[in-house]
Amino acid sequence: MPELNLYAADEEAMLVLGARLAALTEGRGIIYLHGDLGAGKTTLSRGIVRGLGHSGAVKSPTFTLVEPYELGDKQVYHFDLYRLADPEELEFLGIRDYLDGRALCLIEWPQRGAGVLPKADLDITISPRDAGRTLLLQPHSTRADAWCAAIQESV
Ligand code: ADP
Ligand code: MG
Repeated sequence: MPELNLYAADEEAMLVLGARLAALTEGRGIIYLHGDLGAGKTTLSRGIVRGLGHSGAVKSPTFTLVEPYELGDKQVYHFDLYRLADPEELEFLGIRDYLDGRALCLIEWPQRGAGVLPKADLDITISPRDAGRTLLLQPHSTRADAWCAAIQESV
């Protein structure tokens, strides 16, 4: 599956896209979220976490580095590694338990964890354009190929 370019005209469109992606993942996989501060990484994460059934707030775990969500039989871990000083710190967070393949991991600023984080199924790069945001989806696994193919069919 080649990469996919999408456009979310506003925050609502971003949340809808997140929910669509959430349904496709069924709560499993690793998604890296790239983009500058204010790009919309946390907004998309909020759409994904809500799409899996969470109804409360979804704030960026800027200081705690990771926020876990237990959603029925599904687990989501939302990382924001912006303040990670050293990738080794991830070991102290018990990262291995989070990344055992039974959860969905959303990782903002994954480059800060380079060398310790496992490879992503999907890279999403968010950039401002006009009043909205472009999203570049780059799949790296069979399951992410399937997510992208399904999204492409529905837009
Ligand atoms: P990041 O986590 O990348 O730093 P946030 O998700 O916190 O960014 O979003 C920053 C701002 O961008 C928020 O005010 C949000 O409403 C806005 N935003 C998110 N997605 C879109 C979009 N598709 N179009 C316009 N504004 C958006
Ligand atoms: Mg953020």
